[in-house]
Amino acid sequence: MSDEIPQKYGFATRLSHGGRAGTKTHGFVNPPLHRGSTVLYQSMEQRRAYQKRRFDQALTYGLQGSATHHALEDVVADIEGGTRCQIFPTGLAAITGPLLAYLSTGNHVLMPDSVYGPVRSFCVRLARRMGSATTYYPPEATPDELAPLFRVETKVLYLESPGSHTFEVQDVPALAEAAHARGVAVLMDNTWGIHAFQPFTHGVDVAIQALTKYAVGHSDVLLGSATVRDDVHWRRVRDAALILGFYASPDDCWLALRGLRSMAVRLAHQEKAGLEVAAWLAARPEVRRVLHPALPGAPGHDLWQRDFTGACSLFGVVFRGSYTDADTHRFVDALQLFGIGASWGGFESLALPTTGFIHRVADLGGPAVRLHIGLEDTTDLIADLDQALARLAG
Ligand SMILES: *Cc1c(COP(=O)(O)O)cnc(C)c1O
Repeated sequence: MSDEIPQKYGFATRLSHGGRAGTKTHGFVNPPLHRGSTVLYQSMEQRRAYQKRRFDQALTYGLQGSATHHALEDVVADIEGGTRCQIFPTGLAAITGPLLAYLSTGNHVLMPDSVYGPVRSFCVRLARRMGSATTYYPPEATPDELAPLFRVETKVLYLESPGSHTFEVQDVPALAEAAHARGVAVLMDNTWGIHAFQPFTHGVDVAIQALTKYAVGHSDVLLGSATVRDDVHWRRVRDAALILGFYASPDDCWLALRGLRSMAVRLAHQEKAGLEVAAWLAARPEVRRVLHPALPGAPGHDLWQRDFTGACSLFGVVFRGSYTDADTHRFVDALQLFGIGASWGGFESLALPTTGFIHRVADLGGPAVRLHIGLEDTTDLIADLDQALARLAG
């Protein structure tokens, strides 16, 4: 087995075989779990040689990672289709770390209005204090609509597709091209499309994952990754991670790697179950529309069909405008199998009201709830939604 998993293999095969070569496992299937801060050198000569390897997978100190981190990084870089990957302690840190790598005083970043909420807090509270400005653009913007928003100081075009909570699909290749024509780096949160969107063939420079979601898959670890297109972006992202001291516990990396081994199978089930539940909801009289890009007729479906090879199991449900937020809260309270909670990608189903909980003023035409479909029996989930819908109108 070679270190690199040939591209001819499918997604599930690569998840099974990636990150298993190149470490001394004495025949055990999995890479070792190396906990450690200090790394001992055999000689000063060896130490001097290692010092030069800041941008390699050098084992020089815990902050540079261990065999456990590097095994996970190799698998994530492979499935994202990039060259190198850096692990971060959370998905949010995998966004703020790379942003800090590109932004400085007097700079400017373009953010989609549908961006994951805490990134907005970073821009408002920290980037602004550092003297870096943010403009929020409509996520569905065409390159022509985006063009006037670029400034000479713009350093980053940030993408998240589909958008958090509102699920707009972005025209990633066209927007990336507009950014590159102006020398602007393209960073994208690709968490939703982990198995279904190849960021680097669509023009992205740095692809971010909240591994916390489907990669970990069991709602028990926070972890993030940033994978890069090439060495230029690698030097920026890696350097920022090392300067900021952002790394993660090897135990968490080991659990994420374990989660990845079964991710293709979980996602295949969750994609199918999610679509089944979404289609069932779309046919209900209480529902105005379902925000699931893979559902024919849903917003963004055409772009999804062009650029994605699949879907995950996170989507939005917009109720008819005659219902109030209080009605939807009663609906969520009545659900037995759906937990009320943030995050997604685990084995358990979740529900979270959207309206009133997001910063953005998006007129969806009615109160909305975000659903995550887990690994339960789909018939049980639909029966649960059915009984909770009966409570919607009080
Ligand atoms: C959850 C989430 C994150 C952040 O991940 P954490 O590990 O919880 O910090 C980033 N982006 C998106 C789209 C998310 O849903």
